[in-house]
Amino acid sequence: MKDCVFCRIVARETPADIEYEDDAVLAFKDIYPKAPIHLLIVPKRHIASIIVMEREDAEAIGRCFLAARSLGEAKGLAERGYRLRVNCGPEGGQVVYHVHVHFLAGGRERGA
Ligand code: AMP
Ligand code: ZN
Repeated sequence: MKDCVFCRIVARETPADIEYEDDAVLAFKDIYPKAPIHLLIVPKRHIASIIVMEREDAEAIGRCFLAARSLGEAKGLAERGYRLRVNCGPEGGQVVYHVHVHFLAGGRERGA
C-alpha cells in the first residue's frame, strides 16, 4: 500500500528502529513511546484493521503475537510480563490503518 506508513517502513522507504524481523512480521520502536519499551509489531502484508480482518489474515496476525513472545523472551521480560494492545477503529483509538500490536513494557504506560 503506497500511502501506508507501516508498509513504507516494511519496504525500508521510511526509516524505523527495527527490533525484530521474520518472513511475516516486522517490529520497530514507536516514535512516540508511551512506556520505557514501546514497540509496534506489524504483519508485513497490509491488513488495514482487525475490524476488517478476514480468515486468511489469521496466520499473519497470529505471527505478530508469536513475535511478541520472541521479543519478550529476548528482552528478559517473559517472567515480569508486558502488555499487548491492538486499537481497532476510530473509537478504539486506531490512527494508523495497518494492523499493529503495541508491545509495552518496563513500567506503567503513560496516558493509560
Ligand atoms: P494507533 O493509535 O494504535 O493506530 O497507533 C499508531 C502508533 O504508531 C502511535 O503510537 C504512533 O506513535 C506510531 N507511529 C506513527 N508513525 C510512526 C512511525 N513512522 N514510526 C514509528 N511509529 C509510528
Ligand atoms: Zn500497510
